[in-house]
Parts: sequence; structure tokens; C-alpha cells
Amino acid sequence: MHIGVPAETRTHEARVAATPETVKKYVGSGHRVTVERGAGGAASFPDEQFAAVGAELVDAATALGAELVLKVQSPNETELAQMKRGAVLVGMLDPFNADNAARLASAGVTAFALEAAPRTTRAQSLDVLSSQANIAGYKAVLLAADLYPRFMPMLMTAAGTVKAARVLILGAGVAGLQAIATARRLGAVIEASDVRPAVKEQIESLGGKFIDVPYETDEEREAAEGVGGYARPMPASWLARQALQVNERAKQADIVITTALIPGRDAPTLLSELAVQAMRPGSVIIDLAAGRGAELAGQPGVRGGNCPLTEPDKVVVKHGVTIVGHTNLPAMVAADASSLYARNLLDFLKLIVTKEGALNIDMTDDIVAATLLARDGAVARKAA
Ligand code: NAD
Repeated sequence: MHIGVPAETRTHEARVAATPETVKKYVGSGHRVTVERGAGGAASFPDEQFAAVGAELVDAATALGAELVLKVQSPNETELAQMKRGAVLVGMLDPFNADNAARLASAGVTAFALEAAPRTTRAQSLDVLSSQANIAGYKAVLLAADLYPRFMPMLMTAAGTVKAARVLILGAGVAGLQAIATARRLGAVIEASDVRPAVKEQIESLGGKFIDVPYETDEEREAAEGVGGYARPMPASWLARQALQVNERAKQADIVITTALIPGRDAPTLLSELAVQAMRPGSVIIDLAAGRGAELAGQPGVRGGNCPLTEPDKVVVKHGVTIVGHTNLPAMVAADASSLYARNLLDFLKLIVTKEGALNIDMTDDIVAATLLARDGAVARKAA
């Protein structure tokens, strides 16, 4: 099969969907692999490394004209126009964005959006949300440490003692837990909040303190348990009690990292303008949910961020607090983000390409069925 790896074209995107490691495996399995010249450059994978493992270096049209196209982000109109009808497209294709799904369907491509894979044990090795969120959580802490005008660890020096930074993490999923672990390694004191009761133990095992907002009704308890490991929107009553606690903790915090997301919904507002006003000058907020508005572009009423003061893709100072709204942190760690993503794709392709190199879309496979976004000119409603 001809597998094409075009360069990514979106602003701020430095990742690539295949690396020399995965290309070597595709070539070893008998596939023809074409890589657009320069596609891996921003991720520190030069063309020569792809050529050395058997890839053909080509122009964008040839890579996009493959039977199977591997992408990081959804193709734009120009890229889509260069794809063949009936070609297979695999990438992070915004499964909750109905307009994008319709666009891919009308181009006649068979599209798989890997963000829609179920969070099951079998799907772990192809879980792009986890592999990329892990990187985002790590990078968020490093960005915060860089912008924060004080030390992270407690220091006792001849010139006096410096207090450890207090870090507040809102949302302790994959990104939040990695942020806790990274901030801990830098010596910070950590508190974290999440709606899901299961995370208390995980936060504590990483050395953080869980901010407990007890449930008062069955409705609150059921919402918190979520669906398929994901949070659901919490009732206003619980959110109000959480906000009181978060506002109090934010006053004490030097760094706040917000990661709270609910699939297919607005990111919940967790840090109000009043809470930001009460923070110490020089404090830093990294809003990892900032991209959510951009991701769901085209859907009315959707905006980004866990803090209303966040501006997507900007670093702003408001009320003396630096607020970072970068929407693509994984791309800032492009080499490792690409390596992990490329391995996710390699594992996914094992489900849809036979050992003989033929396409086999088995809709009885829960991962294949959940990720299929468009086929034969129609949107596969299950995922969209
Ligand atoms: P996510 O990125 O969708 O959300 C980030 C976090 O924000 C979640 O922990 C969520 O509960 C939290 N959140 C939502 N609303 C909130 C609010 N109002 N206040 C505070 N926190 C709020 O989540 P994710 O990181 O992708 O992880 C989702 C779940 O899937 C987790 O339980 C994770 O451990 C699980 N998971 C399972 C597997 C697997 O078994 N294969 C793999 C990866 C993740």
C-alpha cells in the first residue's frame, strides 16, 4: 500500500505523523512510503533520516495522493483537494466538529479520528489524547516555571530562605497528573481539584493534596462518575461550591495550571476574573483548555479556556498575573510528541491494514467503529 506523510501546514504545528522509526516498520512490512520533503524538519527528523529507512522524499501532492495518508491535524481545503476519493486519512480530525466531518465526507475520504478511540486497555497504545496530553502537562509546568519570577523549590541560602512555589492544578486527567508529577520534581507544593472521585488517590500518590468538594446529591454523584472515564458537566450547585474552594486556593497559589475538559462541550469556567484579581502579582496561569474553542470552531456558543481572561495563542498579563493561552503545547516538544504520536498511528494501522497490506475496515472492532468519522461520502454518525 502507498502510505503518504505530508508536512503539517497549520500555524504552530511542528509535529509530523511518522518518524524514521515507524517508517522503517512500514517499509519493512512491504509498504511504499512517501514523505513530503521537510515534513519532519520542525520535529528534528531531517529528510536524510527518512530516506535512510527507505522512504521516498516527494512533494506535497504525491504524499497527499497516497492510498493512506497519515496526518497530525485535519487537512485544509488545499490539502483535501489533493487527496484521492476513497483514500484513507488517519489523524486527529476533531471528531466533535460536525462541519469538519461533513467536509471530509464530501471529499470522499475514509477518515479516522483517533481522538474518538475508546479509553480501554486495548486502545491504550493508540491513545493519542493520552500521549499528547502527557506532553502538554509536562510542558505547561516548564512554561510556568520560566515565566514565574520566583523559585519553584524551597531554598535555604546564606542570603535567606526562599519559599517553595504553590501550584494549583485544576483537572487531574492525563495532563493534570503529569503536571503534578513535573511540578513535584521541581520542588513545588501542589493542590489539585477534579470532579471525578477516582483521582483523589492518584493525586495523593504523586505527592499532591486533593481539594475535596463533597457531593451533596445523587445528581452530583452520578455526574461526577462520568461516562467511559470522562467527566460530564457538573450540576451548578457543585460547581458553585467548587468555585468557592478554588477561589480561596487560587489566592494562595503562585502558579495555576488548568486542564479541565468535557468531551464535545465548552471547557468549564473554573477560575473567575475575581479569583485572578486576588492572585499575587507575578503569578502565572497556564490554561491548557484554551484550544477548546479553536477545536470546536464553527459550533455556536463554544469558546475556549477554563479562565475567561485567557486569550487563545497569546500570553497576556491581566491584574498583574501572566496568563498563557497556547493551544498546542505538544508541538512545543515536537520530537517526542511526534515519536509517541507516530507510534500511536502504527498501532492503529494494525487494526485496519492486514499483514498482506490490504485495507480491512472491520466495523465489529470497537476501536475501528468509534474512530471512523467519514466513509463513502457520508459522515459516520457514530463518531461525529
Ligand atoms: P480530559 O482531558 O477530557 O479532562 C481533563 C480532566 O478535567 C479530567 O480529569 C476531568 O475529569 C477534569 N474535569 C472536567 N470538568 C472539571 C471540573 N469542572 N473541575 C475539575 N476538573 C474537571 O481527560 P483525560 O485526561 O483525557 O482523561 C479522561 C479519563 O480517561 C481519565 O479517567 C483517565 O485516567 C482515563 N484514561 C483511561 C485510559 C485507559 O484506560 N486506556 C487511557 C487514558 C485516560
